[in-house]
Amino acid sequence: MAEIVRQIAHRGVAHEHGRPTLEMQGVTVAYAAGVNGVTTTRGTDYALKDVSFQVGAGERIAVVGPNGAGKSTLFKLIVGTLRPSQGDVTIFGHGPAGHICIAYVPQRSQIDWGFPVTVEDVVMMGRVGQIGFFRWPRRRDWAVVHHSLERVGAAHLARKQIGELSGGQQQRVFVARALAQEAELLLLDEPLTGLDLPSQEAIFEILDGLRPDGVTVLVATHDLNLAAERFDRVMLLNRKIVALGAATAVLTTDNLLAAYGGHMTVLNDGDMLLADTCCDHD
Ligand code: ADP
Ligand code: MG
Repeated sequence: MAEIVRQIAHRGVAHEHGRPTLEMQGVTVAYAAGVNGVTTTRGTDYALKDVSFQVGAGERIAVVGPNGAGKSTLFKLIVGTLRPSQGDVTIFGHGPAGHICIAYVPQRSQIDWGFPVTVEDVVMMGRVGQIGFFRWPRRRDWAVVHHSLERVGAAHLARKQIGELSGGQQQRVFVARALAQEAELLLLDEPLTGLDLPSQEAIFEILDGLRPDGVTVLVATHDLNLAAERFDRVMLLNRKIVALGAATAVLTTDNLLAAYGGHMTVLNDGDMLLADTCCDHD
């Protein structure tokens, strides 16, 4: 009993002082054949191979690369729904399990939009870590939920069913859930796909609003222009890290050819590059 009380009193994993927000060391992933979402230490068909990097507090990182590059796999390792075949993933010095500071918005296609749940309930789900499973939301929790919806300009949608909303509104609601969670590490898997330009801009304005809070943001995207313009660093991924750093250093012709290979056309003697961004959005 004392152990349960201790766990409730100390919800979430304590953060180790001086450790990076996120760190991967020698992370390799091979999926087990025929079992969905399970990794194996024996496979040789690598989804990710020997990935190492660090991300500091408050950084905003774009993760780019062709379909099948391992972007979603990378995010699943960070939230802990997938375990690496080899290597270590640490968040503030500890493995992913038990952290309440990580908010993850999966690719749209992986969410069941027909599930009958209201917008404010979706956002309240973000508070489960703070509330604990053993009590009902208090007035303060509802206040946090409604404030979070206000911050993303979605207060008027609180009572709607999540499935009724447009793609841009749905993404904003999931960002509100991350705010309600008081997340310190926000992972958005292709949040811009299928959104019109004003909706994309709205997402970036909300992310800009998180900067003073020091929230670290990783966004998987197919849009190389946005990656170059709106992020502190770009990670170019194709089963391994091809390059990670400032956009000008990362998005070079050589690096892009290394990552995209045949999916890329070089025009005007290397002046312009066209990425084949067509994707099945699995
Ligand atoms: P991205 O998000 O960049 O498109 P993914 O991380 O989804 O890439 O996929 C990386 C590789 O891992 C692909 O070859 C994909 O087929 C494979 N993969 C992804 N998820 C699974 C799974 N659940 N089981 C088996 N293989 C998978
Ligand atoms: Mg993906």
